[in-house]
Amino acid sequence: MASPQATEPTDVERDELQRDLETLRGELRDAIEGSEQDARPVELDQPAVGRVSRIDAIQQQKMLEANRNAQRARLAQVHAALDRFAEDEYGDCVACGETIGFARLKARPESLYCIACQSAREKR
Ligand SMILES: [Zn+2]
Repeated sequence: MASPQATEPTDVERDELQRDLETLRGELRDAIEGSEQDARPVELDQPAVGRVSRIDAIQQQKMLEANRNAQRARLAQVHAALDRFAEDEYGDCVACGETIGFARLKARPESLYCIACQSAREKR
């Protein structure tokens, strides 16, 4: 088990996290692009489409759009995290300056906040 005390990532770990972020950036870009190509407007006046399946189609489009927005938001965080690498501030919480910790960064390399600040933000 990882100790609850966050330790500063080593250089090797930082390299690993930077690669993770770059991979994630590529995956998110591909996913958003692919999803945009699927996002065709729902044909509302197609007689062959029943009412129920039309509602299904609209709901599905809404879900895809919500998903896409979440991916865009995550991509923006990935970019912000990569910028912090350039400034050598990666791995420090943007709110309190505490070390975020390798285990958390490995799970979500785009994390900008430590666990305490993140949960405080989510409660708001
Ligand atoms: Zn913090």
